[in-house]
Amino acid sequence: MTTYVYDFHQGNKDLRDLLGGKGANLAEMTNMGLPVPPGFTITTVACREYLAHGRVPAALRDEVDEHLRALEQAMGRRLGDPDDPLLVSVRSGAKFSMPGMMDTVLNIGLSDASVPGLARQSGSPRFAWDSYRRLLAMFGRTVLEVPDELFDDALEAVKKARGANSDLELDETDLRGLAETFRTIVRDRTGRDFPQDPREQLDLAIRAVFDSWNGERARLYRRQERIPADLGTAVNVVAMVFGNLGMDSGTGVAFTRDPGNGDQGVYGDYLQNAQGEDVVAGIRNTLPLTALASIDRPAYDQLLSVMATLERHYRDLCDIEFTIERNKLWMLQTRVGKRTAAAAFRIAVQLVDEGLITMDEALARVTGAQLAQLMFPRFAADGQARQIARGMNASPGAAVGQAVFDSRRAVQLAAAGVPVILVRRETNPDDIDGMIAAQGILTSRGGKTSHAAVVARGMGRTCVCGAEEIDVDTHRRQAAVPGGLVVHEGDVLSIDGSSGVVYLGEVPVVPSPVVEYFEGKLRADGSDPLVDAVHRIMTHADAAARLGVRANADTAQDAERARQFGAVGIGLCRTEHMFLGERRKLVERLILADGDEEADAALAALLPLQRDDFVEILAAMDGLPVTIRLLDPPLHEFLPDLTELSVRVGVAAATGEAGVDGEVVLLEAVRRLHEENPMLGLRGVRLGLLIPGLVALQVRAIAEAAVIRRRRGGDPRPEIMVPLVGAVQELEVVREQAERVLAEVAAESGIDVPALIGTMIEVPRAALTAGQIAGAAQFFSFGTNDLTQMSWGFSRDDVESSFFSRYLELGIFGVSPFESLDRDGVGRLVRLAAEEGRAARPELKLSVCGEHGGDPDSVHFFHRIGLDYVSCSPFRLPVARLEAGRAAVLAADQPSDTA
Ligand code: ADP
Ligand code: MG
Ligand code: MG
Repeated sequence: MTTYVYDFHQGNKDLRDLLGGKGANLAEMTNMGLPVPPGFTITTVACREYLAHGRVPAALRDEVDEHLRALEQAMGRRLGDPDDPLLVSVRSGAKFSMPGMMDTVLNIGLSDASVPGLARQSGSPRFAWDSYRRLLAMFGRTVLEVPDELFDDALEAVKKARGANSDLELDETDLRGLAETFRTIVRDRTGRDFPQDPREQLDLAIRAVFDSWNGERARLYRRQERIPADLGTAVNVVAMVFGNLGMDSGTGVAFTRDPGNGDQGVYGDYLQNAQGEDVVAGIRNTLPLTALASIDRPAYDQLLSVMATLERHYRDLCDIEFTIERNKLWMLQTRVGKRTAAAAFRIAVQLVDEGLITMDEALARVTGAQLAQLMFPRFAADGQARQIARGMNASPGAAVGQAVFDSRRAVQLAAAGVPVILVRRETNPDDIDGMIAAQGILTSRGGKTSHAAVVARGMGRTCVCGAEEIDVDTHRRQAAVPGGLVVHEGDVLSIDGSSGVVYLGEVPVVPSPVVEYFEGKLRADGSDPLVDAVHRIMTHADAAARLGVRANADTAQDAERARQFGAVGIGLCRTEHMFLGERRKLVERLILADGDEEADAALAALLPLQRDDFVEILAAMDGLPVTIRLLDPPLHEFLPDLTELSVRVGVAAATGEAGVDGEVVLLEAVRRLHEENPMLGLRGVRLGLLIPGLVALQVRAIAEAAVIRRRRGGDPRPEIMVPLVGAVQELEVVREQAERVLAEVAAESGIDVPALIGTMIEVPRAALTAGQIAGAAQFFSFGTNDLTQMSWGFSRDDVESSFFSRYLELGIFGVSPFESLDRDGVGRLVRLAAEEGRAARPELKLSVCGEHGGDPDSVHFFHRIGLDYVSCSPFRLPVARLEAGRAAVLAADQPSDTA
């Protein structure tokens, strides 16, 4: 038989699924012997059954009865006793903390009949009426759905009539009058009286808490935070303790360390003669927690000792809620507290130094996403600019620019070198140009999966979305903001994509100290505790990691940066840029070549240029492997645009202009090479097979560059990677050519530089025939960008800005498959290819060079399926290194994954 109710003595902190976080931790504190008022928890199972069937499980009522009797006994008071009533709170609490998203009702059990009893028992009629008016308002609002403002307005009216600045100045008579007003409000709005039967109050409150799981606020929050919608909430019934019994009572919240920056010490707020949410609701100015030391030293000392106990017990930063009732401390809640990225790193190493956790645990407690946050430039704290709104922190970074209200204007100004912030109500695919041109994007509508948010994250633009206080008027090119201000086109805005804050005016941007540390400009020498913490955790991550991290880098400059950021090689060096700019003409000559001689001349002209590029890169990466990918993109990318050229030739012909013969020939070639779907056309290995001499040119340039580096005393380690192979035969042909050239260069120079020859696995067929392909490849590098495009059958450039936001809204995927590897589909291909490749050739090196190489979730997957390294953009390197280390310590913690 299912048990629906657990006494606090029966639970513990590991039962969050069943008891919710609040209930599990109340139980834990109870069993630790901390001063927690007695109570019990109704499980999430009961809630789920209630939500599924629309009624409370039959057995629940009896179980509640039973636990209520035990509670009455423990407290020596009875629910509904007119002379000495037991009061309870009815509190929501789900597995994951959803602060303020669901309901709680305090002072349940009080009625017209028992207020005098409570007044007598406490010796304070004011307190009794204060508690009753609070019950009426809270119950009215959350259980009976009476609009909050009605109670607020009535309270304000009484305060005004009395000339009172705060609720403290209201006396017994005022509060009693207020209770009467509140009862009338309830009757008028609901057509019935506030229920006087305490047990009915309790049952209705329990149901209301169940229902609040599906309230509007809670649903939105869950979607935002990716909390599953079917967990349900537990309900905690807790004997009331009273912070509103006078100035020797009060209520507060506290953190065991500063959740903002991780500083050690006591952080919190305290409010005398107050109850529940008063302390966070801003009804009066709170006192800093340290002030409690002079108000009530013994309670303060006890609180500090409880906080220390909790930290040692949970081995982490805790946040707590407490109440003091006539100098007696009561603990009402604790949980492992949320914290900023900086605090996470600092607290993790502090706890290591305090002997509470190991370095492995410290590493497990920080994330790549947090590290990434620490790497964005930030606004200097002391800006003169004025905060005008706050939206959602959709894509991090700090962006400053002139406000513009349409894409066209954004493009114009950006082209003229003016930084702009694109301000829209919401964006759509037509805004792409403007989004690319802008420093940052600000919208007044839409959440974290809105078009603006998805696209901005995809291209790494700073974005604040859903800043609802801003009223955007595109036609008049202006936006109204709170306080009567109007932002016009050209006014400077600063937007903080990490916090969601929008400023009018320019806020100075400062580089991240963490990036300066990675660049070697700052040392971990004790001057910045955050840098020290990052340094220690990164060092541990590198030592723990099995998966290596290389960089995608095409130039010597990128390679140097990658090295600073800790790359153990280059996993993808693209060669296409080596054919652009001035050199484009040579490629044109090669394509248009009329006979071998012309083609050879073009290739001969390209050789030294490309060789010099490789010399530089191999020098920057001396001693480390450099995987060079042979030419990949469709040829037409090196030729003029078809439409433009057609127009030029057409106009010339019509006006009888001379000297266009060359262009006519070129146009023919462009027409010949034009493709409807270039992504699926003549590219990758196909180029090498179609254009005589291309592979030989590139391999020769690589080999000769390596020889030059050797002659200069270097240690070049080139690897040759063939893109877009779908069949082993393709690779075999290219491989043979490459080996021939390598041998030639070795013979000519007398220096033999060995180079691995391998392939990208980025076409589904390659993954499916990996066993065969491994016969001709010394390494595989999974090109997960193309593999994702080809597995799903959509092109990233086309779909990300058009329908991805809709797909995310519909839940077709939880996150873009270009951001985080789609394990079920694309991941399955990767795993299969890895297994079959290794079976055919055990020493086969396996790696990834798509953007997924820098994505935390994907890195864990790649670790688990046994890849050797990932390769990602230089800026993502630290994130990938950290996650590679985390993957190792977390996997050591878990049974090996076979799913
Ligand atoms: P939330 O999850 O929104 O924080 P809580 O259930 O923690 O809601 O309750 C809201 C407020 O009421 C908190 O400040 C809490 O400390 C206070 N509170 C809850 N139960 C009691 C109780 N039994 N006695 C006194 N105060 C209580
Ligand atoms: Mg709380
Ligand atoms: Mg590719």
